[in-house]
Amino acid sequence: MSRSIVIIGSGMAGISLVRELRKLDKQVDIVLLSREPGDFYSKPALSNALAAGKSAAALVLTPAARLAQDLRVRIVGGTEVSAIDTGARTVRASAGVFRYDALVLAVGASQRLPPIAGEAVGAMLSVNNLADYARFRERLTDARCVAIIGAGLIGCEFANDLSLAGIDVDVYDVAGQPLGRLLPAQAAALYRRQLEAAGIRFHLDTTLARIDPAERGYLLTTGTGATARYDLVLSAIGLRPNIALARDAGLDTGAGIRTDRLLRTSMQDVYALGDCAEVDGLVLPYVLPITHGARALAATLSGLPTEVRYPAMPVVVKTPACPAVVCPPPVANGAWSVAVEPDGLRGIHRAADGQSTDGFVLLGAAVKERMSLAERLPGPLTRTAPK
Ligand SMILES: Cc1cc2nc3c(=O)[nH]c(=O)nc-3n(C[C@H](O)[C@H](O)[C@H](O)COP(=O)(O)OP(=O)(O)OC[C@H]3O[C@@H](n4cnc5c(N)ncnc54)[C@H](O)[C@@H]3O)c2cc1C
Repeated sequence: MSRSIVIIGSGMAGISLVRELRKLDKQVDIVLLSREPGDFYSKPALSNALAAGKSAAALVLTPAARLAQDLRVRIVGGTEVSAIDTGARTVRASAGVFRYDALVLAVGASQRLPPIAGEAVGAMLSVNNLADYARFRERLTDARCVAIIGAGLIGCEFANDLSLAGIDVDVYDVAGQPLGRLLPAQAAALYRRQLEAAGIRFHLDTTLARIDPAERGYLLTTGTGATARYDLVLSAIGLRPNIALARDAGLDTGAGIRTDRLLRTSMQDVYALGDCAEVDGLVLPYVLPITHGARALAATLSGLPTEVRYPAMPVVVKTPACPAVVCPPPVANGAWSVAVEPDGLRGIHRAADGQSTDGFVLLGAAVKERMSLAERLPGPLTRTAPK
C-alpha cells in the first residue's frame, strides 16, 4: 500500500502544502479533508472585494475539481473531522475514517465574538471564509449603514471597502487607536485621520454592551448607554487558532497547536501549518508564514527534514484611504522614531539595545520602501532561541 498524507483544511495552508508536495513527490497519496468545498481562493481578498463588486463565486481562483485533477489529490469537501486517533493513525470525519502515515492539521482560526449581551447577538456577522462573504454580501443588499466591532486590520479593511461601496461605516473598539497591535501611537493618529477623511467614523475607547433588534436593523448600546441603529453589525475583533481537535487528541497546545521548527507537533507524524499553528512559540496568522511553512513542510514530508525559516514579513494593510505596511517588532521594549513627511509616514523601531532595527511602519506613498526596509531586518524565528 502506498504512503498516505492526510491534510485537514482546504485554506491557504492546506492547498499551498498540496502544491508544494506535488512539486517534490508525484507518487504519494494525498487526501484533503475539509468542511469547506475545497475551492482555492485568496482569503485576504475577502476584505477588499465589495467595492469591486465581486461575488463569492468570482473570488474562486481554482475550483476543487480542477485542483483534484491537476494535483492528483483526493479532496473530500463538506466533511467535518471530529476526532484523531494517533495510536491507530486514523482520522474520523463525517465522510468516513481515513488512515494516515503523516497527518497535517491546517485547520485555521475562528473569528472571536465580542462579549455583548442583547437579543440580536446571533445576528452579528463575521467574515472568515467564502461562505461567510457570500452571506455578508447578500445581507448588505439595501444596507445603508454598518457598524464594525474591532478596529484591527480586518475591521479597518472592511470599513474602507464598505465606505468605498457607498455605505456609512462606524467602527467601534475598546482600544484607543485603530490597528492597536500594529501601529505606534503617532502613526495610528495619522492613519485614523486619513480614514476619517474618507468618511469612516471611529468610536474608540468604547465598550459595547448590547445588540438588540430595532424596527429596522439593529440597535447597539455602548457601555455608557449611548445607542445607535445600524442595518448590519460586523464583528472583527480577531481570530483564535482552532486547537480543539488537536487538544482532544492529546497534542500539546497553547495559543495554537504547538510545533517545533520542523512543524512537528508533540505526536509522531502529526504536523501543523497555518493559522492554527504555534511554531516555536509564535502564532503568525498571515499568508507569508504559510508560504514559507508549506515549502519547508513539503520537503520534510518528502524525506528531507527542513526547518522553516522566515524572512522579515511585512504586513500590508489594504486600506486605500491610507495604505500601510508594518513589520511589528518582536517585543515591545525598544523605541519607535517616527517622521511625518509630505508623502507619508516612516517609523523605525530600535531594539532595546539601541543599535539594531527590528521593526518599521510606513504609511501613504512611503509604503513603496517596504522591501528595501524588510531586507535589512531579521526574520521572526531568528529572534527566539532554538529549543
Ligand atoms: C478578511 C481577512 C483578510 C485578511 N487579509 C490578509 C492580508 O492582507 N495579508 C495576510 O498576510 N493575511 C491576511 N489574512 C490572514 C490570512 O488570510 C490567513 O492567515 C490565511 O488565509 C489562513 O489560512 P489557513 O489555511 O491557515 O486557515 P483557514 O483559511 O482558516 O483554513 C482552515 C481550513 O480548515 C477547515 N477546517 C477547520 N476545522 C475543520 C474540521 N474540524 N473538519 C474539517 N475541516 C476543518 C476549514 O473549513 C478551512 O478549510 C486575512 C484574513 C481575513 C479573515
